[in-house]
Amino acid sequence: MSATGTSTRPRGRQFFANPGPTNIPDSVLLAVAHSTVDFNDPAFMEVYDACVEGLKRVLKTRQHLFMYTGSGHAAWEASLVNLFSPGDAVLILETGHFSDSWASMARDMGLEVRQVPADWRQGVDMEAARAALAADKDRAIKGVCAVHNETSTGMALPLAEVRAAMDEVGHPALLLADTISSLGSIDFRMDEWGVDAAVGGSQKGLMLPTGMSFTGVSEKAMAAHEKARLPKFYFNWTRMLGRKQRSFVGTIPIGLFYGLRESLRLIEEEEGLEQVFRRHSRLGEAVRRCVRHWSGNNGPQLFCTNPGRFSDSVTAVLMPEGHNCEAVRGTALNRFNVSLGAGLSKLDGRVFRVGHLGDLNEPMVLGTLAAVEMSLKLNGVPHAPGGVDAAMAFLADGMAA
Ligand SMILES: *Cc1c(COP(=O)(O)O)cnc(C)c1O
Repeated sequence: MSATGTSTRPRGRQFFANPGPTNIPDSVLLAVAHSTVDFNDPAFMEVYDACVEGLKRVLKTRQHLFMYTGSGHAAWEASLVNLFSPGDAVLILETGHFSDSWASMARDMGLEVRQVPADWRQGVDMEAARAALAADKDRAIKGVCAVHNETSTGMALPLAEVRAAMDEVGHPALLLADTISSLGSIDFRMDEWGVDAAVGGSQKGLMLPTGMSFTGVSEKAMAAHEKARLPKFYFNWTRMLGRKQRSFVGTIPIGLFYGLRESLRLIEEEEGLEQVFRRHSRLGEAVRRCVRHWSGNNGPQLFCTNPGRFSDSVTAVLMPEGHNCEAVRGTALNRFNVSLGAGLSKLDGRVFRVGHLGDLNEPMVLGTLAAVEMSLKLNGVPHAPGGVDAAMAFLADGMAA
């Protein structure tokens, strides 16, 4: 026996602070571990139907819902192939890595991609979006794609304003919204905001394992679907409507449905959806207070510089010039067993991300921030110490004993 063990990571539960996938509550883990049942069994159909109804309530829609075995990318693909024909133009509102990826997918599918460009730290200018729509006199744009919560930059996009911009110029395009990292953590209102296709996934605010995604679909989008000619089979909504479950082509991932039923129970019954939003907003603000404090000494800063658009589910932190965030992430992981999100595409090395969505409470967020502050110190990254105190002060202020 050697005197030192072989494990390179400290003991204790890992604090998982990536903005997706997220922590899975123990009761959801247990629910997912369900033995095989026939997915046509009436007992399972009951679970299935309850999940569909619950998910519609969380999406705030009374319209259609289609589900897929596949991560969020699958639902992105479903939204495009079911609604458009080769050569159709789509207008993508630039937000960051995820709007870029959705644009690449659309391009590869043979769509004409137009963009409203934006500074990733400020977010898209609604006036520019309105102008792009107004300039489209022959109505070539068939869809507007908007990422509700841009997970790479920590910025939310006010979808009600996007809808208002479309209505003001009377543009008939469909509104597609990616709600993958906002659903179940930031308010989303599909029907009220006139969203025609809402793209969601299982492993973020819904606190489930990766592997299930879905689209809420409006009546208007269903009408467009009838004429859409992009090739599709697994994702074909018409094919799904012919099934007893009115969704899913092929085998249904039943374990994820038992998990979804439990996560919906946690969200809607145990905590309450509006309470869930309030918790995310409180934890998000605590993280921002902490980062603002660190920035005092030429330290890391909030990447988002548009205070009206802070995301309550993820904060992107910009490193000071000359410091790479991978050293800080490495120390956080290897010394403290805290997993942080990396910078995506052009933010690689410059930005790390603190996820604060899903199954989290105050001590978990404070523990993560404390590990980050220690990692900044250990790596010689300038910062004003005491960010965690600023977060604690904010959290305690808003609370009665
Ligand atoms: C995570 C994420 C995606 C991609 O989803 P996957 O499940 O990783 O395929 C797309 N958009 C946003 C905003 C995301 O946060």
